[in-house]
Amino acid sequence: MASPHLVFDEWEDEYAERNEHLRRSAVRDLFAAVSRPNVIGLSGGSPDISSLPLDQVADCAKNVVDEFGLKALQYGSSEGRPEMRRVVADMLAEDGIDVDIDQIIITNGSQQALDFMGRVFIDPGDTIIVEGPSYLGALQAFSAYMPDVRVVPMDDDGMRTDKLEELLEELGPGGAKFIYTIPNFQNPAGVTMTLERRKRLLELAHEYQITVIEDDPYGKLRFEGEHVPPLKSMDPNVIYLGTTSKIFAPGLRLAWCVAPKPIIEKINLSEQGAGLCVSAFTQCLCEQYFTKTDWKGTLKKSQAIYRSRRDALIGALEEYFPEEATWTHPEGGLFVWVTLPPYFDTMQMMSAALERGVAYVPGSNCYPDGQGKSSMRLAFSYEPEENLREGVRRLADTINDRLEL
Ligand code: PMP
Repeated sequence: MASPHLVFDEWEDEYAERNEHLRRSAVRDLFAAVSRPNVIGLSGGSPDISSLPLDQVADCAKNVVDEFGLKALQYGSSEGRPEMRRVVADMLAEDGIDVDIDQIIITNGSQQALDFMGRVFIDPGDTIIVEGPSYLGALQAFSAYMPDVRVVPMDDDGMRTDKLEELLEELGPGGAKFIYTIPNFQNPAGVTMTLERRKRLLELAHEYQITVIEDDPYGKLRFEGEHVPPLKSMDPNVIYLGTTSKIFAPGLRLAWCVAPKPIIEKINLSEQGAGLCVSAFTQCLCEQYFTKTDWKGTLKKSQAIYRSRRDALIGALEEYFPEEATWTHPEGGLFVWVTLPPYFDTMQMMSAALERGVAYVPGSNCYPDGQGKSSMRLAFSYEPEENLREGVRRLADTINDRLEL
C-alpha cells in the first residue's frame, strides 16, 4: 500500500539532500540530440570499436561456456576473479606497476570505481582537488558526496604543479582528501602530464600527505610520441584506475582499481553494497580475450584510426576556425580542447550549433565552478574523417555568425 502522506506530484521533500548536489550530464542530454539524423557528434567520447574481431570475440564467449560452464553464470567474489586480477597484474607489469592481485579489485567500469572513491574518502564538505578542466563523469560521481572541489589549472604539460603547490600551501598538510588526475591524454583537455610534473606532483602529495588518484583509461591509446611512466609505477601509494573500455569494449563495463590493501578492503565493502560482484561471465570473457587473442594487434589498428582522425580534426580546425581560437595537440586518446576568445559562451552557442547539425561538449561542463565558458571538448574518436571535417566546418560557421554579430 502506498504511504498515505505521499502525494505523487510532490516528491521534492522525500529526496535525500545529495540529489541536490548531483550534476546533470550535458553529454547524456547531448546524446539525445545527436540521435537526431544529420547531427555530427563531436560530443560523445565513444571509442571506435570497428576493429574488434567479432568472430574471435564469439569464440571467446563460446570458450567461456565450454570451459567454465555454470561457474561463469554464478555469483562471484566481490573483489573479482583471481584469474581476471592476474590478467590485470600482468598488463600493469608491462607499465612498470608491480602489484599482487590482492591489491586489485574489479569494478563495473571505472565509473563505478570513481563512485567508490567518493564513498570511501569524501564526507560532506571535505576538500578534494581536481584538474581544470576535468572528466565530467568524475565531477558527477564525486558531487553526490558533497565535497568542496578545488581546481588546479592545466597547460600543455598537464596539471600546473606550481599552482598545486600554492593551493596545498593554503590548505596545509592533509588539507584535502585526494588529488584526482588523468595524466595521459586527459579527458577533456587531451594533454599529457610530463615526467617532471609527475615527479613534482608525487613529491607534493607526499609532503602534504594527500592521496593521489590516477585515472588512466587512455594510457594505451598513444599514437605518437614517447611513453611516460604512470604515477603508480613511481609511488605504490597511488590509487590507479584502469578499464577495458578503450582497449576492448565499453559495453562490457569491466575495469579495475589498484590500491594499497587497506583501501581495497574498504572498496570491497562498498562493492558488496553496490553490486555484489562484477559479472563472472564478463570477467571470463575478458580473460579469454586478453590471453587468447592478438588484442595488441587489434589496438594498433584502433590507434592508427585515431591518429588519422586526430589529423583530420586538427587539419579542419586549422582550415576553418578563426585565428583567435587555440587548441591542444593530443598524442593519443580521443579528445581535443578548443578555446575561443573570452567573449564566447559555448553553452549558449550550443543550440545554434545543433541547428547547424553539430554537437560538442561545452567547456563549463568540465569544471565544477563555471570556468571554461569559452572552451569546448571535441571528440575525434567516433565520427569518420569526412564527418569530422564537416562537423568542424559547421562549428566554424556557427562561430563566424557570432563574430559578425
Ligand atoms: N575516467 C575517465 C577519464 C573517462 O574518460 C571515462 C569514460 N570515458 C571513465 C573514467 C569511465 O570509464 P568506464 O567506461 O570504464 O566506466
